[in-house]
Amino acid sequence: MKGLVLDAEWKPKPGYKVSEWEKRTGKAITGNSIWHNPKLEVRDWPDPEVGPNDVLLEVQACGVCGSDMHFYETDDENYILYPGLTKFPTILGHEFSGKVVETGKNVQTLKVGDYVTVEEMIWCGRCIACRNGYPNHCERLEEIGFTIPGAFAKYIAVDEKFCWKVDGILERFGEEKGVEVAALTEPTSVSYNAMFERAGGFRPGHYVSVFGAGPIGLAAIGLAEAAGAGMIVAFEVSPQRRELAKKIGADQVFDPREVTPHEVLMELSKGEGFNFHVEAAGVPHVTVPEMEKSLAINGKIVQIGRAAQKVPMYLETFQVRRSQFFGAQGHSGHETFPNVIRMVASGRLDLSPIITARYGLEETVQAIARSTERSDGKIMVRPQMNGK
Ligand SMILES: [Zn+2]
Ligand SMILES: [Zn+2]
Repeated sequence: MKGLVLDAEWKPKPGYKVSEWEKRTGKAITGNSIWHNPKLEVRDWPDPEVGPNDVLLEVQACGVCGSDMHFYETDDENYILYPGLTKFPTILGHEFSGKVVETGKNVQTLKVGDYVTVEEMIWCGRCIACRNGYPNHCERLEEIGFTIPGAFAKYIAVDEKFCWKVDGILERFGEEKGVEVAALTEPTSVSYNAMFERAGGFRPGHYVSVFGAGPIGLAAIGLAEAAGAGMIVAFEVSPQRRELAKKIGADQVFDPREVTPHEVLMELSKGEGFNFHVEAAGVPHVTVPEMEKSLAINGKIVQIGRAAQKVPMYLETFQVRRSQFFGAQGHSGHETFPNVIRMVASGRLDLSPIITARYGLEETVQAIARSTERSDGKIMVRPQMNGK
């Protein structure tokens, strides 16, 4: 079958100490320190094998993620930018929906013809973290589209336990649009996990700020609106994304280069500060100090964006303002996928306006190239469609 394959050369940066585990598994823990000369190409790849617990999915839609962009873009020495767990070559793509076309002999919860969306994190269920209820911190994690073949392809085989049925979404949006909306479940679940599972959410009426209105920030805005925020303020450099932020539920949107965010937030809250700050810009060294200076008493900051850097924080503020900072990663467990699907199926959360472009499988490299302009909401690849 055809798939978008990323190939790269294993060439650790001088000074990077390759661990025994990395040598043994061929997986890089810090991808940007090892993978050199990335090459993305739609090409032939062996058909997936369907294990006894697997379903074979015909991929319907797969969104382009910021991390896909960080495989395409490189640093000055031509290393990938993506800093996480990776093993190449593999097929990229991890935000997707699919239709079940075959079931392994042990599969009990799905049948041919079902539409599903899928977790990206292949948690083992056996390590200490998993057994303690923390699948997002699995010690033997595989990741679809990062360490094992992803969904920028005609087909993918996955264990049924990672699949969630999306009938409700298809009933609301119809099949054609529904499969694209269903493919937004994974990134939306990343925001849901951070805001409601990790940070424990906010009270209806609370003031929420969202820094960064890429797909994760846009999902955070939609979720904040649906959860009853009293005011939502977003900061985003792209004018197109600022428009999308308003459409999804932001009351006010600013270009952070034109204002001083903490001053804006203090003024809008009449000096009380914001109760809940979401970092989805991936530049916490810039955004967190602004959040800190506009924290309401008992305020919360939740970090979703990834950035391998230190952040200046004045902890006195967290004592005086009785405030908390939460780190978050992942989307699995804790009822997250099913609750996001319910919100979308009920119409309380409608992120469909953030889908701004679609491409066929053959054009996946162009789709990723376009996403590097950072002005779209979510770009979809439709592997079963030819051309646009
Ligand atoms: Zn992603
Ligand atoms: Zn595990």
